[in-house]
Amino acid sequence: KFIALEGGEGTGKSTQAKLLAKSLEDAGKKVLITREPGGTKGAEAIRALLLAPPESSGWGPRAEALLFAAARADHVDKLIKPALENGIWVITDRFLDSSRAYQGGAGGLGDAAILTLHDIGSGGLRPDLTVLIEAPTDIVTQRLSLRDDGVSDAIGGRDAEYHAKVAAAFSRYAENEPDLFTIVDGQGTPEDVHQRIAHAVHAALNC
Ligand code: C5P
Repeated sequence: KFIALEGGEGTGKSTQAKLLAKSLEDAGKKVLITREPGGTKGAEAIRALLLAPPESSGWGPRAEALLFAAARADHVDKLIKPALENGIWVITDRFLDSSRAYQGGAGGLGDAAILTLHDIGSGGLRPDLTVLIEAPTDIVTQRLSLRDDGVSDAIGGRDAEYHAKVAAAFSRYAENEPDLFTIVDGQGTPEDVHQRIAHAVHAALNC
């Protein structure tokens, strides 16, 4: 099975990916955790280009969307598909719906263009379940201010309005496509959120 964790920055996706993997492993499953942009050598190289654009003006929205799609094509072909074919459960920290929310929604390219790019790049592969973790802006801002590794792992030049558009786009897709998404409240301790996600995964995937 293929599970994607989605949400804006600071919603806890990477912590939750680890907790979910552990609980699935405890239940006897083989699990692979991966992330986007990244997951393979080629996609991680594209991630570095996205996070540190060679020109100070950054990437334009179309080039940015194509780079994300190229990174995903490599990730799907070399890591995700082979793992799924071998019966391994794959948990990814971001996937297509991040492209839809960031580049399609906030970046202004529109949903149809992003889905077309995904069809071309990755054969339209969709997760069996996408878990959208939602948390209020003040909690997210507080969590991000506590990240003290000194390394910026974010694409710069984006304001609060951009991030509000991302959050709105995520909610819209999740509400319009209830068969594909589960929305989980990201407030509380990591263990609180994990319990909600584990329950949702159990209910949706019968495991
Ligand atoms: O989730 P993570 O922090 O690893 O993402 C790295 C950066 O890439 C973040 O700034 C995130 O907002 C951005 N991103 C994006 N569009 C995507 C996926 C991630 O702008 N489709």
